[in-house]
Amino acid sequence: MSDIGGQAVIEGVMMRSGNFYTVAVRTPDKDIVLKKENIRELARPLKWPLLRGVVALFQALSIGIKALVYSAEASGHEEEKPSSLSMFLTVVLAAVIGIGLFLLLPLYGTKLMGILFKSVNESSLIFNLVDGVLRVIVFLVYILSISMSKEIRRVFQYHGAEHKVVHAFEAGVELTPENADKYSTLHPRCGTSFLIMVMLLSVLVFSLIPKDWPFIDKFLSRFVLMPLIAGMSYEFIKFSSKKLDHPFVRVMAMPGLWLQKLTTGIPSRDQIDLGHYTTRLNLHKGRPSAALLTSRGCPYGCNFCQSKQILGHRIRFHSADYVLAEIEELYHRHGVRYVYFSDDVFTVNRPRLVQINNTPQALWAPPYCAGIWDGVR
Ligand code: SF4
Repeated sequence: MSDIGGQAVIEGVMMRSGNFYTVAVRTPDKDIVLKKENIRELARPLKWPLLRGVVALFQALSIGIKALVYSAEASGHEEEKPSSLSMFLTVVLAAVIGIGLFLLLPLYGTKLMGILFKSVNESSLIFNLVDGVLRVIVFLVYILSISMSKEIRRVFQYHGAEHKVVHAFEAGVELTPENADKYSTLHPRCGTSFLIMVMLLSVLVFSLIPKDWPFIDKFLSRFVLMPLIAGMSYEFIKFSSKKLDHPFVRVMAMPGLWLQKLTTGIPSRDQIDLGHYTTRLNLHKGRPSAALLTSRGCPYGCNFCQSKQILGHRIRFHSADYVLAEIEELYHRHGVRYVYFSDDVFTVNRPRLVQINNTPQALWAPPYCAGIWDGVR
């Protein structure tokens, strides 16, 4: 197993392996800038099992913050490097919010549920199970809320790209965009899997805390036990990434992989080198081209066609506005002059088609669109 890892940053990724890490960021003028740094070698006792997980967590936080600061500057999101004091205050604020949201809030919620439902207070295991479920709910709500931001969704897309590259590296293939693109955006050795493992193990470890302790003691003991849980989770993630063929390990790794479906995305067009693809896909008279899928499924049932088996029985459409925004981006941002609509039946939704065709943007829609010409005429 390789020791390669990384994280998404603003408009790029950070990759680390051995005693180095490199941050790659796309600048506003579409160049990619790199920054390579050494990672200080750890003293031998800090590499002992359990302890190494806690150390790795703090080291990952420190490297991650430095990489994020660099990416914010290089991508043009921040004009100036923040001072050490403002960075320190940001980290403290993030830690306070994290403790409040993921330790205090679920514990307080469980206490309230204990007042309403006597069974919650029956045993430490039930109390901590409810606490654990509330923690997972708070975490999911948090992830879903931040993923509504366009900027965060882009970071998640870079997160998916990072996993694709790690898979390609571990498979030993040449590291090219095409090779990396064949791999999954999900990876078992991911920070998201680590977080969900922390939540699962915390239910077991917190069950050791007596249920009749005062609220403040329960809260402080949770805080003190977190490093132990982090160390255990790190060991499990390390172990599971080597033993994924074992059925038990696979089952344990599943929640982390499911959660990654929320925290990773398929890279968008401008996150890959589209020019590379458009020159290869000169499908029509040498024009830079791209494919668009604006709907999924088909309402018909031709018996020789596999559409229903592949895309299901329901047809789903992107709105006309969405399709036009996509075309606009392809045209203006990527120089695309030929759009191939690869829907099963692009023309089946007539009102949507009319809306697309009647808007001013459609004036410059490429006249060689197979769907529009073949279907409407
Ligand atoms: S996609 Fe085309 S071939 Fe397939 S069921 Fe629909 S109309 Fe028939």
